[in-house]
Amino acid sequence: MLNSGHAIPAVGLGTSRLGTMEEDVVRAIKDAVDVGYRHFDTAALYVILFFFSFLILKTFSYFNEKAIGKALEELRTSGKVKREELFITTKVWSNSHTEELALASVRRSLANLRLEYLDLVLVHWPQSFRSGGDYIPRVNGNISGTILAPVDPTKENFTLAYKGLEQAVALNLTRSIGVSNFNRGQLEKLLQTPNLAIKPAVNQVELHPFLSQKDLLEYATSVGVRLEAYSPLRRGDAKMLENPSLKAIAAKYGKSVAQVVLRWQLQRGVIVIPKTSRRARMVENADLFSPGFLLTAEEVATVETLNADDRLIKFEDSAHLAEYPF
Ligand code: NAP
Repeated sequence: MLNSGHAIPAVGLGTSRLGTMEEDVVRAIKDAVDVGYRHFDTAALYVILFFFSFLILKTFSYFNEKAIGKALEELRTSGKVKREELFITTKVWSNSHTEELALASVRRSLANLRLEYLDLVLVHWPQSFRSGGDYIPRVNGNISGTILAPVDPTKENFTLAYKGLEQAVALNLTRSIGVSNFNRGQLEKLLQTPNLAIKPAVNQVELHPFLSQKDLLEYATSVGVRLEAYSPLRRGDAKMLENPSLKAIAAKYGKSVAQVVLRWQLQRGVIVIPKTSRRARMVENADLFSPGFLLTAEEVATVETLNADDRLIKFEDSAHLAEYPF
């Protein structure tokens, strides 16, 4: 249950890099619904791919709101799933950090996803880019997309974007709102905003055994904000999936290391959104509730010892901007 009073399925499907063609994404979403997924995580950041080179595809890889919308509409029309059974999350990108632009971004996402309301909308990153226009602002026509222009922090900032999301709730465009990639100080700052009408329900951050986020988790829990783990499988990193301690726990329960890692997150109260395009792995990643599959306190602690504060997603191109979180 979120602090907004709405329930969220503890396991969702991450959809970044789900497929490069629309039909791949549609097929993956249909497979996921078929095997029981009801929670999907996407983001507004797909438009970029139609404007920029495939170089950017490697770094910014959600481009699928429309394909997800198509799949979900087909599933609803055929009676396979009802809207009220679904939990759909999307995010507002950093070039929409004003109230108006954040609200406009929510409306665009709704149109792309063919929905009347969203379940959760997040401010994707705390650092702000130049308003409107390109998803990745460029300087001197540089197409690499790596040079991000600084903005006037009094006109564009994450609090203004969040205020736009509060309006989206008031207009019934989304049920819950939250943030992503916020560090503790930024979460505190947001919570201390004068006239904050709605507490963030979620902070979606990178979280896996090599980046356990213990302090952020303790703080977020203490203020009623749920952490949601992105890259919960460390993007399938062999170093993690072959880790001997994790393999030993997996062997004890007859489970895979991926399942142990996801189960560990659930037992800490963390929501998980593993991505896979493969049906068999969709089943595997959601099969976390079988009787007897409960890590002991000692095993949870063993997983915690693997923490190395080893972050995969640093977004260093934006490290010069105000509110860079890491
Ligand atoms: P992830 O879920 O940790 O890992 C996905 C990778 O692991 C894929 O290459 C997948 O390959 C592989 N995989 C999946 N299940 C597996 C299993 N059981 N065994 C072995 N390998 C497995 O990484 P992610 O996609 O970066 O993160 C998940 C979601 O978080 C994203 O899709 C996105 O929705 C969200 N996210 C949010 C942010 C943000 O800034 N808020 C940033 C990054 C990601 P196959 O597909 O081939 O199975």
